[in-house]
Amino acid sequence: MSGNGRAIKAQGLRFSYNSREILKGLDFEIRKGEMFFIVGPNGSGKSTLLKCLNGILKPRGAVYIGKDELCKLSKNELAKIIGYVPQRSEINHLTVFDTILLGRKPHLKWGISDRDIEVVNKAIDLLELNELAFRRLTELSGGELQKVVIARALAQEPKIILLDEPTNNLDLKNQIEVMKILERIVREQGISAVITMHDLNVASLYADTIVMLKDGKIVVKGGVEVLNPENIEKVYGVKVSVISLNGKPLVVPS
Ligand code: ADP
Ligand code: MG
Repeated sequence: MSGNGRAIKAQGLRFSYNSREILKGLDFEIRKGEMFFIVGPNGSGKSTLLKCLNGILKPRGAVYIGKDELCKLSKNELAKIIGYVPQRSEINHLTVFDTILLGRKPHLKWGISDRDIEVVNKAIDLLELNELAFRRLTELSGGELQKVVIARALAQEPKIILLDEPTNNLDLKNQIEVMKILERIVREQGISAVITMHDLNVASLYADTIVMLKDGKIVVKGGVEVLNPENIEKVYGVKVSVISLNGKPLVVPS
């Protein structure tokens, strides 16, 4: 991915399940090295949008990954660029280590190299999974599993990581840890993180850009200042107050 600092560009992105249109013409650009949040009510199309960006679903319109058209990239090429952490992860009987090693699959040539093991160990360190490395996924809590899935996505060494409600199953400590880790890899490695989230206050703390989605359309897009009472009422149909805390909007019920 070379060029102008662009990681993803979507123009007129549309997607329908059967005849029902879910995403109704979205335009946005995601820069390299940014924390890009997608917020919006249940059913607004957040998960569908992430699946359109990672090639699981085939949207209409133009979607570029770097300079390449998404539809022209092979599955394997795409897997080297985009890591994905789904909203619900499937559980298998593999160990934590082997699961994270699966993240190396798009890069494997003749077998597993020392470098592959090194990358896996780095991801294990980063998410503090050392003590769990040889446990089976069936023996993990929801929060632990979530960290394993994030580690597997990072082991892919992607340029873009898509995370669907990554902090949902996590307690406060793990929420903070996971968000800090994501912020660190974004800032240090120039990866772009595209994150869907319900908690507007977490989005406020970490976002460079926020897109507010409603009924498959972008209502507003911008910096954290888009989290104001007018926009929130438009998108969620609820009245809130927004105060400023350390220069960031803090949404409180009113
Ligand atoms: P969000 O993640 O914002 O809650 P989703 O993208 O999951 O929203 O869903 C958007 C809409 O698409 C919802 O109305 C949902 O019922 C519908 N939908 C999601 N997955 C499917 C599917 N596999 N088949 C048909 N409709 C679906
Ligand atoms: Mg969803």
